[in-house]
Amino acid sequence: PPTLSGDFATLMGWADGVRRLGVRANAETPEDAQTARRFGAEGIGLCRTEHMFFGPDRIGHVRQMIMADDAQTRARAIEALLPFQRSDFTELFRIMAGLPVTIRLLDPPLHEFLPHGEAELADVAKALGKDVESLRARRSALSESNPMLGHRGCRLGITYPEIYAMQVRAITEAALDIAKETGKAVEPEIMIPLIGTKAELDLVRKSCEGVIADVLSERGVKLAYKIGTMIELPRAALTADQIAQSADFFSFGTNDLTQTALGLSRDDAGSFLPEYVEKGLLPQDPFVSIDREGVGALVRMGVEKGRAAKPDLKLGICGEHGGDPLSIAFFEEVGLDYVSCSPFRVPVARLAAAQAALAARNNKAVKA
Ligand code: PEP
Ligand code: MG
Repeated sequence: PPTLSGDFATLMGWADGVRRLGVRANAETPEDAQTARRFGAEGIGLCRTEHMFFGPDRIGHVRQMIMADDAQTRARAIEALLPFQRSDFTELFRIMAGLPVTIRLLDPPLHEFLPHGEAELADVAKALGKDVESLRARRSALSESNPMLGHRGCRLGITYPEIYAMQVRAITEAALDIAKETGKAVEPEIMIPLIGTKAELDLVRKSCEGVIADVLSERGVKLAYKIGTMIELPRAALTADQIAQSADFFSFGTNDLTQTALGLSRDDAGSFLPEYVEKGLLPQDPFVSIDREGVGALVRMGVEKGRAAKPDLKLGICGEHGGDPLSIAFFEEVGLDYVSCSPFRVPVARLAAAQAALAARNNKAVKA
């Protein structure tokens, strides 16, 4: 397996001696988490949970839950996934051995979970004891023209509260199990996606806290935890002072923030973008390096408003920009606490964070 050794490891040690920014990794599988640790990540800044639901033994339950129209059937369908999720998170906590782990609650566009072909529809109908025609009608009622701007993130968690309740129970139980196994405290960080208003965060936070309290009282134990939010919609950055009142941390989701601030699809902006950048119509590919005057200004505003409302608010970034040296220089300037990037970009991020810290020191010295 890839690892850092020899002169490269020495260089990394020097970089770590000067950098201020923490460097975490985006990791969701045990392999990712192991790679992240070998490359020196100081925690997981984003564990996406979407892909955990697509295994052949899991997806059927999710489809049944989405397509069911009564709360009891939904709860039964999703309960089947609790043991799977508990072991997903136990494994990650075990590998990360007490380092911080931020787990983001489910954030798929809903259409990825709808039954697609006739065979899938028939399977769900059979499991739910419904006729195929009624499910076809429900599927078309749930279909959207712009799923990335629709029923996803916390919106899905609010309309289907059973999903987040199951995930939060799995996270809490896994953290308690690993703390017991290792004798070392595990403090999970639960992250809510696509928040646009404080009211949304308050609602989701309250139900997460209810589930955590249930688990703790069942087991008769205590657990320290954090609940925070992604800042990935312009409205969230603009109202970060309000949102901070209900958040223990922010993580900037610069992929969605770029998409929503520029009105550019993150999935298919490729066709005309290179020509645009070449003609100087945009400073650079905004999905690669932070656009300082656009998304960067929103990040800066989010940081300033968030910290003004809550001075000890933890601030990170987990969009793709977290592994890009030019963007890392910007994140140093605005005073984030950490960047989180894909495991293979962790060494570059450590070096870039060190360069950014040196540049900041030199600037201060010049000004003095
Ligand atoms: C983001 O939007 O920047 C982010 C990290 O979340 P995702 O890429 O999963 O939407
Ligand atoms: Mg996002």
